Amino acid sequence: MTEYQMLIDGAEVNAISGERFETENPYNGEVWATLPRAGVDDVNRAVEAAHAAFTNGPWRTMSASERGRLLRKIADLLPTQHAKLSEIETRDNGKLIHDTRYQTAYVAQLYEYFAGLADKIEGNVVPIDRPGILTYTQYEPVGVVAVITPWNSPLPIAAGKVANALAAGCTVVIKPSEFTSASILEFVKLFEQAGFPPGVVNVVTGMGGEIGEALVTHPKVKKITFTGGTETGRHINTLAAASLKKVVLELGGKSPNIVFADADIEKAVRGAIAGIFSSSGQTCVAGSRLLLQDSIHDAFVERLLQLTSGLKLGDPFDPDTQIGPITTRPQFERVVNLLDVARKDGARCVLGGEALSGPGQLVKPTIYVDVQSGMHIAQQEVFGPVLSIIRFKDEEEAVRLANDTMYGLASGVWTSDMSRAIRMTNAIDAGCVWINMYRAASFMMPFTGHKQSGLGSENGQRNIMNYLEPKSIWINYGADITVPFLKE
Ligand code: NDP
Repeated sequence: MTEYQMLIDGAEVNAISGERFETENPYNGEVWATLPRAGVDDVNRAVEAAHAAFTNGPWRTMSASERGRLLRKIADLLPTQHAKLSEIETRDNGKLIHDTRYQTAYVAQLYEYFAGLADKIEGNVVPIDRPGILTYTQYEPVGVVAVITPWNSPLPIAAGKVANALAAGCTVVIKPSEFTSASILEFVKLFEQAGFPPGVVNVVTGMGGEIGEALVTHPKVKKITFTGGTETGRHINTLAAASLKKVVLELGGKSPNIVFADADIEKAVRGAIAGIFSSSGQTCVAGSRLLLQDSIHDAFVERLLQLTSGLKLGDPFDPDTQIGPITTRPQFERVVNLLDVARKDGARCVLGGEALSGPGQLVKPTIYVDVQSGMHIAQQEVFGPVLSIIRFKDEEEAVRLANDTMYGLASGVWTSDMSRAIRMTNAIDAGCVWINMYRAASFMMPFTGHKQSGLGSENGQRNIMNYLEPKSIWINYGADITVPFLKE
């Protein structure tokens, strides 16, 4: 049994109350580690440490190049912990081991990228029409950033937000999901090894409703970057508004993957499978609504079933496993319940449709056909291996169906007609459109949700500006001071 500690002000600590909670392996239900159950006092301690590091410490006066060098050290140190971090993530989250290995390597590349951005933050001279006055802008870090993350890709999501914030010169307090905090606690040990000043990176572990809210409402937190469910995101936004905090929300999705009759069908079938069944469907960008043009519908479904009916469910450490467990017990129950709802709504199940009996939170890959856009299964984010197939006649109907949910996170379009592809990129109301591909991501590209899928963005070169505040500087080097109402 591993006993983790939190990181506050450069020290590994327990909760002030001494309370702990357990974390389970979702494949076999084994409790494999315990973590500190932080309370409001621990949040205050962490925010004070982050605030002190931001206002007084060496971090504040460090050159941007030195900040970049420290971030690069994280990229250099990550390979030494690669195997350990991937194993922790698979044990705690249930994601397949080859996925967690890939994601850990991705985090190292991401730190390399943000290390390079740290010293590219530039203000500009503004040529206002006033002789004798020099005007320019400089960009300053916003301050303490609260990083609140979900359970589905714990390490890359939290590590990515931290890299954005640190490159800009902010300090952070991370609150990972109570279900998957272990990999973050292991990861942040690298910051001490790399030589980051104490208090620049802090982590508190515990329950969202308790310590998440305490972080969101803390007066010394200036910005919140949140990834999670739409409902939680709305609540956080409301709480944050009271103290005018800056908020970035990356929320849920119900993304359309649209296949036209002129597409390369074999590639599109593979794209549909990767889009929904990767990570057992527990990805925000899951292509959970497959829109098929009438004339190819039956042949497409037949090929899809050929390739998916033999998918192997099981132990995420087994290299042959293709579908791992659902990460949390409440989420597993939610998915099973939505399968029931789909059945009652009249969606026709052609694959799966139930959980695998026996231990482990395993849900069979599930495909529904004859789905109507108004059905619950076509509107609600399932966050599990469940695909809804909807037919369409023509491009106009495809656009209407694609935009017919409250979400707007991602989308895919498969066609060999490039004019149509470009029309679709303009017509789909989503933060991302993939053409003849699905589910690609890069820290170099902005990631953003439209409609109820989010607010603001992360990643990409320009996003660093979201962690900075402009300051306008006016210097009089020769202008008269004129006071229009003074009579001399
Ligand atoms: P939740 O919204 O339940 O939780 C996300 C985080 O918020 C967790 O750390 C949680 O803590 C915390 N939290 C919960 N309640 C509060 C509160 N009142 N105040 C502050 N923090 C709180 O999401 P899930 O963890 O269930 O993650 C799944 C969701 O995340 C899906 O909807 C998915 O689409 C979305 N997601 C979006 C992505 C995107 O980039 N758009 C990427 C990945 C996931 P605790 O766990 O302790 O409850």
